[in-house]
Amino acid sequence: MTTVLFLALALAKPPEPQPTPEYVEHWRSQVDWKALGDESVDVLAEYLAVDTVNPPGNEARGAAFLARELAKDRIESKRYVLSEGRESLVARIPGSGDQPPLCLLSHIDVVPAEEERWDQDPLSGARVDGYLYGRGALDMKGMGALELQVLRQLHRQRVPLNRDIVLVAVADEEVDNLGMKQIVEHWDEIGCSHMVNEGGLGIRDALFDGQAVHAISTAEKGVFWVDMIAEGPAGHGSTEDEGEAPGRLLEAMQAVATRKAKPRIEPDMYTLLANIGAHKGGFTGWVLRHRWTVNLLAKGQLMGNSATRATITDTLHLTGMSGANSHNVVPSEVRARYDSRLLPGTTGDEMLAELEHLTRKVDGISFEVFHDQLSNGSPVDDPLFAALSRYAVEGRPYAVAGPVLSVGFTDSIFARPLGVHAYGYVPFEVSEEDANTMHGHNERVSEENVHEGVRRLYSAVVEVSVNPEAREPLPPLPPPPAPEPDKEPRPEDLEGLPEQFAP
Ligand SMILES: [Zn+2]
Repeated sequence: MTTVLFLALALAKPPEPQPTPEYVEHWRSQVDWKALGDESVDVLAEYLAVDTVNPPGNEARGAAFLARELAKDRIESKRYVLSEGRESLVARIPGSGDQPPLCLLSHIDVVPAEEERWDQDPLSGARVDGYLYGRGALDMKGMGALELQVLRQLHRQRVPLNRDIVLVAVADEEVDNLGMKQIVEHWDEIGCSHMVNEGGLGIRDALFDGQAVHAISTAEKGVFWVDMIAEGPAGHGSTEDEGEAPGRLLEAMQAVATRKAKPRIEPDMYTLLANIGAHKGGFTGWVLRHRWTVNLLAKGQLMGNSATRATITDTLHLTGMSGANSHNVVPSEVRARYDSRLLPGTTGDEMLAELEHLTRKVDGISFEVFHDQLSNGSPVDDPLFAALSRYAVEGRPYAVAGPVLSVGFTDSIFARPLGVHAYGYVPFEVSEEDANTMHGHNERVSEENVHEGVRRLYSAVVEVSVNPEAREPLPPLPPPPAPEPDKEPRPEDLEGLPEQFAP
């Protein structure tokens, strides 16, 4: 998209930034942001050092770490046990109940790291040149730490909330989403109407140099995982036979490869482009602000790049083949594996019908579906979306925010069918290079981002969770009971705690 270059005429003015509501200013002016930011950096460093690499996950270690931090502020938490060593955690600070609860969601597990390719130990939480290194710094222990810090700050400050704030840290997002699927079954205990989760974040120089785009995920594409199976007579490698499975599979794969994906731009995508265009100004900005000019002039650019093409098409991606085991044996069955991601409005059945149509002339072809999940989304016209957008760009005249359709899926896709308005936004602003360390090497986040992120997330949560008229904090909590001198921590609470952090 950087190459959508047209004559830059000064035709459009960037939109005026919305003022911060006075009541948000009231509450956040009382916070020692330097101290909270420093504490947040310490918490994240320690959290990154807890080994929750999935597989196998060991999320009980991460849940125990979060529980210990919460307990320091006398916030109780509850564990949901998935299996041996695998747990999710839920903690709640109460509000008046005038509004349904707000969930701050994160996942505890992280993907594996090729340690030898890293400059720092991926499980160290090392601090180097203003950065915190570690698997999960961006995806998503960084956000988990911010959410924890926002919760404890609201609790310490005794902010009079009009809704419960619920911290939810789940196991197994990176593999089978078993943690979130379990939490969804207990939704009567959780009860959130709104949720903040991972999804988008701020990327500097995303489309245009000098402009940062803060994408807030409002929707996720559907998922359709399917094997195409070819069957035929088994035989000896020395002699060719008619209708063998490998030949049929090749023919069918070639037929599938002729598929032309049709672009379909979703309303939220037009909104994001319009916001970017209004902020950018000039002729390019004008093009991006109108649907007809986007269709006429920018669609080709969007289709020309695999990343943007994925946001405007139903993709069908060949990700593997299987079935051949020996040079001299013709197998009776071979398979091609496809990962298809579907735009809102396209069903798995429709993609299956397309595959069947494309391969109709090849004999012996069938399909086996492994995963079929419809796309879902949350409205842009929502107070939480508005608040996340506001604080993403507050004090950053070079930045713009807007909705985005995530091409991958997160745990939000399991919450939305319950009626939850779920938005994916991690309040960090990073370079494209740093963003690519997610699931890559040297995953990192700057300490400055942690400081900024906790303030911006706090502001958004306050905006949607505090009565605008309220100015007085709740009465202070009673003093803590005297400590029980001989009470030892449970062994499971210490399990997995890195040596340097052990009490
Ligand atoms: Zn993640």
